[in-house]
Amino acid sequence: MCAGRAGLRRLGPAGGNAASQTHGTPSIPRRSRRRKSIAIAYEPGQGDGVEPQRPRWEPRDWQEQLERIREMRRNRDAPVDEMGVQKCYDSSAPPQVMRYQVLLSLMLSSQTKDQVTSAAMLRLRQRGLTVDSVLQMDDATLGQIIYPVGFWRNKVKYIKQTTAILKQKYGGDIPSTVEELVQLPGVGPKMAHLAMDIAWDSVSGIAVDTHVHRITNRLKWVQKETKYPEETRVALEDWLPRDLWREINWLLVGFGQQTCLPVNPRCSQCLNQDICPAAKKH
Ligand code: SF4
Repeated sequence: MCAGRAGLRRLGPAGGNAASQTHGTPSIPRRSRRRKSIAIAYEPGQGDGVEPQRPRWEPRDWQEQLERIREMRRNRDAPVDEMGVQKCYDSSAPPQVMRYQVLLSLMLSSQTKDQVTSAAMLRLRQRGLTVDSVLQMDDATLGQIIYPVGFWRNKVKYIKQTTAILKQKYGGDIPSTVEELVQLPGVGPKMAHLAMDIAWDSVSGIAVDTHVHRITNRLKWVQKETKYPEETRVALEDWLPRDLWREINWLLVGFGQQTCLPVNPRCSQCLNQDICPAAKKH
């Protein structure tokens, strides 16, 4: 049975969410005495060395486009909703085991359809999916269980290496910062940001996969066309309000699976066809 994201979110902070503290806003000490407010006429850039702020760039029509994508995603019936990584860990397992399962399903998910990842996770969980059980498993058995996920031979190697590091360096848990997560073999930035979100309930950045990368370029949500997902992440984080960073991955992945397909997007069924710069090209 697959688990919902909420279960682990609830447990995240109890597991010592150092990352949230790192990313949180430090509290400002209160002044001990009240001070009189003084009105000061102030115009930045007039001999005070302060540069006038440039107007912040944001894409045309993005709010309307976003609203319409929300509408198209209203039924939550894309593969990612049913079988995404956030659904593939065992919600009855101890928090540390759940976090390990989240990381493992993320590693399995790259270049792999959600259905295939979900089935592989189910087979692994039937054998008891923990750091110790994976370390005790030989490579051939692990390969047989995870097959046919994409690049399964490489993933066997990375899973074994990463799991050994988790055991030795992190006491069997997963690290709680993006910087440490991306040091693990087979873990890239997208996986690290999703792991921070799902396993630690901490929004560290936008998780940009192939769907988010493609769709945001089609909608011109990046000032200049980007070539790689990491470039896209940086470009999006520059203007997209932070409170949307978590939602955007889920929203666009499902939209990319159902409507804005990689090849032959279904523009005629898309509510954004009149305000999408890419609509006429397909
Ligand atoms: S109009 Fe076509 S290209 Fe534009 S967002 Fe919709 S499906 Fe994608």
